Amino acid sequence: MAAKSHLNKGTCHKVLNARHRHVPTAHSAAKKSLRQWSTPLAKQLYEAISTTGSVPLASYMRMCLTGDLGGYYTGAVGQDRDQFGAKGDFVTSPEISQIFGELLGIWFIAEWISQGRPSKGVQLIEVGPGRGTLMDDMLRTIQRFPAMAASIESVFMVEASRELRETQKKRLCGPDAPSTESNAGCHSPSKYGATPIVWTETIKSIPIESDKTPFIVAHEFFDALPIHTFQSAPAPAPAASKTSPPSSPSPPSSSPSSRPDTTASTLTPAMEWREMMVSITPPVSSSSSSPSSTSPPPEFQLVLSSSTTRHSRLLPESSPRYRALKQTPNALIEICPDASLYAADFASRIGGSPKHPKPAPSGAALILDYGTADTVPVNSLRGIRQHRLVSPFAAPGLVDLSADVDFHAIAEAATMASAGIEVHGPISQADFLELMGIRERAEALSKIPGITPSAASDIEKAWKRLVDRGPSGMGKVYKAMAILPENDGRRRPVGFGGDVTA
Ligand code: SAH
Repeated sequence: MAAKSHLNKGTCHKVLNARHRHVPTAHSAAKKSLRQWSTPLAKQLYEAISTTGSVPLASYMRMCLTGDLGGYYTGAVGQDRDQFGAKGDFVTSPEISQIFGELLGIWFIAEWISQGRPSKGVQLIEVGPGRGTLMDDMLRTIQRFPAMAASIESVFMVEASRELRETQKKRLCGPDAPSTESNAGCHSPSKYGATPIVWTETIKSIPIESDKTPFIVAHEFFDALPIHTFQSAPAPAPAASKTSPPSSPSPPSSSPSSRPDTTASTLTPAMEWREMMVSITPPVSSSSSSPSSTSPPPEFQLVLSSSTTRHSRLLPESSPRYRALKQTPNALIEICPDASLYAADFASRIGGSPKHPKPAPSGAALILDYGTADTVPVNSLRGIRQHRLVSPFAAPGLVDLSADVDFHAIAEAATMASAGIEVHGPISQADFLELMGIRERAEALSKIPGITPSAASDIEKAWKRLVDRGPSGMGKVYKAMAILPENDGRRRPVGFGGDVTA
C-alpha cells in the first residue's frame, strides 16, 4: 500500500514549445473513426479538443476528476470501484489510523474551549470527506465533550461524488437513516445524538451567517483542485508602425530627442506568461507500441500556448510572487484559483468580510495536505492508479490526478479575504501530530485490555507511518496550516506551538 505521498513526482508528459493548436486535417479526420479511446471521457475530450482547440490544464483536470461523464470521483465508469484502500488507488491518513481523526477532533475541541466554549451555533464543515472516516473519528472524539457536542448545530459535508456521499451517509448515519432535502442540500440525522449531517456539492451552498462558529477541516482536498500552469516566454515585438519601421535604427541616446530612451527595453525583451494547454497525442502505430508495456500510452499531452490566453493575462498578475518570476526565461508556475476561492471562503466565514460582516470573528480551519510551504509549485501534476504513478494523460477518469498545494497562496488568499483572521503554519504533519500527542494516544490504545500483539504492532506501524520524517515520508511531505480568528498572534493554536487557553 502506498499513500499518495510515497510517490515521486515528475511523470507529467510535457511537449514544450509546440506552437500550434490542434487543427484536425483530412488525414486526422480519416483516422478519427479508427482510433480507440481508453474511456468514454477520453473520447469526449478528443471531440471537444478537435472542435475548439487545446484546453487549459485546469479544464482537463476538472473533467477528469469531477466531470459528469466518467470523472474520477463523480463518474459512473467502474461502478463499485473504491478509490481508497489496498484495493483502490491510494491510502490517506484517516484510513491508515483512527488516531489521525481523533487528534483532529481534539484540535477542534481545544479551539472550542479557547474560544469561550460557545453553547450554540457551532458548525462542523468538512470539504472532500472521502469515505467519511475522518469525520466519524472526529465526531466520536467530540462526543466525549458533551457540552461541545451539544453546541454543534449541523455537520456539513462538501462532497462532489454521489457515490462517496452515499458511503459517508452509511458511515455517519447508518444504512437506513432517513433523508430530507432542503435548499442547502440533503440532510440525515447522524448516529451521534442525531446531529443533522448536511451534504452539499460545493461550499457555496452553505449559507454564511455571522452568528455561527464554523470549524472547517480540509484533508487531501486542495490537492484535488484543478491547476493552471504557465511558462514565461519573450513577448513578441510590438507590431511595426508606419512611422517607425523596425529596420530604422533608434536614435542614439545622446541625440537631442525628447523621446524616452528605449535602448534598455530593446536589449531585454519583455516577457509574458503563456499557458500550458492539453492537446491530443498523435495516434501510436501498432508497430511502435511496445507489447511489454504495462501502462497505456498517453492520449493527451501538454503544449505551450503560442500566445497569451485570458488566464495567462490574469492569473499570474494576481500576486507579486508570480510577478517576481516573470522575467526569468522559461520559469514555470502552477496556480490553483479554486484553492484561493476556498481559502477566501473559509476566511470570510471565520473572520467576516466586507460582503459578510461578522461582529466578532469565531471558528477555525485546519488544512492538511501535501505541497510547498513557500515556493510556487512546479511540475507537480501526477496521476495515480492502483498505488502507482502513471501518466496523468492516459485513461482519463480512471486515474486520480493531483498537484502540490501552494500553502503560501492559500494563506495569501485567506488574509486578503478577511481582516478578521490570522494564519498559522504550515508546519510538517510530523510536528503537528507529535505536538497533538500521537505517541501518547498510540500507547494508550495499545494497552487496551485484551488487545492482541499483532493489533498492537499494527497500531505502532500506522502511527509511525503518519509521522515518518524520511525524504518522502508522510510526516515530512504533508503539512498542516490553521486559520484562526485574528488575535494579533497572541494565541497560538495547539499543535502549532500553543496551549489550550480557557
Ligand atoms: N479527505 C478524504 C478524501 C480525500 S480524496 C481522506 O483524506 O480520506 C478527495 C475528496 O475530495 C473526495 O471525497 C472527492 O470526492 C472530493 N472532491 C474532489 N474534488 C472536489 C470538488 N471540486 N468539490 C467537492 N469535493 C471534491
